[in-house]
Amino acid sequence: MSNKVYIVGAGPGDYGLITLKAVECIKNADVLLYDRLVNPDFLELKKDTCEVIYVGKESSNHIVPQDQINRILIDKFNEGKTVVRLKGGDPYVFGRGGEEAETLYDEGIEFEVVPGVTSAVGGLCYAGIPVTHRDYSSSFHIVTGHSKKDDQNEINWSSLAKEKGTLIFLMGIGNIEHIVKQLIDNGKEPNTPVGFVSWATRYNQKTTLSTLKDAKACVERENIKAPTIFVVGDVVKLADKLNFFEKKPLFGKNIVITRSRAKNSELRKKLEEKGARVIEIPTIDIKSMESSKSIIKNKINGINGYDYLAFTSYNSVKYFFDILKLYRFDLRKLANVKICSIGAATTRELEDRGVLPDITSERFDAVSLAGEISKNSIGKVLFPCSEIAGTDLQKCLENKGFAVDRVEIYSNKVNYSERERVVDAFRNSDVDFITFTSSSTFENMIELMGHENMELLEKCKIISIGDITTKTIKSKISNNVFQSKEVSMESMVEKMIELL
Ligand code: SAH
Repeated sequence: MSNKVYIVGAGPGDYGLITLKAVECIKNADVLLYDRLVNPDFLELKKDTCEVIYVGKESSNHIVPQDQINRILIDKFNEGKTVVRLKGGDPYVFGRGGEEAETLYDEGIEFEVVPGVTSAVGGLCYAGIPVTHRDYSSSFHIVTGHSKKDDQNEINWSSLAKEKGTLIFLMGIGNIEHIVKQLIDNGKEPNTPVGFVSWATRYNQKTTLSTLKDAKACVERENIKAPTIFVVGDVVKLADKLNFFEKKPLFGKNIVITRSRAKNSELRKKLEEKGARVIEIPTIDIKSMESSKSIIKNKINGINGYDYLAFTSYNSVKYFFDILKLYRFDLRKLANVKICSIGAATTRELEDRGVLPDITSERFDAVSLAGEISKNSIGKVLFPCSEIAGTDLQKCLENKGFAVDRVEIYSNKVNYSERERVVDAFRNSDVDFITFTSSSTFENMIELMGHENMELLEKCKIISIGDITTKTIKSKISNNVFQSKEVSMESMVEKMIELL
């Protein structure tokens, strides 16, 4: 397949407001050029080998001049690369996408353009402002508010001011005085409702409502800055009713969650659905342990010598099954052992692999699982686990006469490379909540941040998932530690909402 240049709209910022086609382009790109208004989370979709070039520009301060961007597109294409030029919103709405496409055409370069949700429509939508409405407006006009002193030739202010439809100005904040004056001087009613929507569709979206005559004072008073959409018209009256986004329960809250790279973040999704800004810190670096693979292989070959197979973490299931696959063991090899699990994530991982555990414990701790197992006949337990897994399960079972064969199959190391990021997150944003889903994630976080930064944790509310985790946290921090009612992500989210 021949290479191409794709000019791609990334939408206004919300991770969900990008097209499937744009995602496909990012995944296939050899070179990715992106702007300031593109949500940087999209970069995580790229291939490991993809070259990433930031060509962001502030409205007055062009970091990479347009002709240089064009040059990069041409040169990278000529090197045989698939080039993706990712732009905020829609590439043809004041994004210079048209100019870039023309350049490519002139150079005889094959290209495609992928439209995106423009902030002018999608951004206003998230602020509760429909651009048209049968009662208020039957057209909308998207206008550049760019500060060109002599814009009389570009914008017909007298017809714009007479227009009954919604007027949407992008890049207009620096020029607000001029825009307002032109509209009022040309006959627009000074009491017309106006709205400012900054960082639309993002966690830090802010909607400010005013009137045309007070618009400039409002920008100064509220310190409104780019990127902001300035909207003029009666549809603004609907914002209070229809602003579903800023009304989400956790909107405006900063929440730090911990995760290991190997785990996909269910909690993150749930929190974002509720409007929170999630700062995800991979506190632990989890890796399978090479040396354990052949040990597990031998154990499975001798699986008939075991009565139980116990899992106490999501990762133990994952790495154990990876080993089964590596050595091409069929799942039916495990048919005669009783499978034991603690924790919803562990059980779900087993179920996703077609195994419904025989023994589970209601409570997320090793002692209660040991209690459940010991209700059955005494036997031998294979326990694949992390190198730092606690010894409670073993001890309790051994006290009751069981034999436990512990095999450490993955390592669990503190990810010190994240120290700066996590400390900055606490220093630079008001963190409202931090969540811990196990004792080890808490201990790792302390280790990662350094004991000297403990006071940063004490400033926010700490949400813990179970008794043991809470106990561990409380041994170090006395205030503001809260435990979710149940051992589940949903319940943690509910706890945060309850504490607001
Ligand atoms: N192609 C983009 C617009 C580029 S011009 C689109 O279709 O949305 C840049 C201007 O767009 C900014 O100055 C601001 O006025 C507006 N803008 C873009 N994204 C925005 C966002 N998330 N929130 C508020 N304004 C935004």
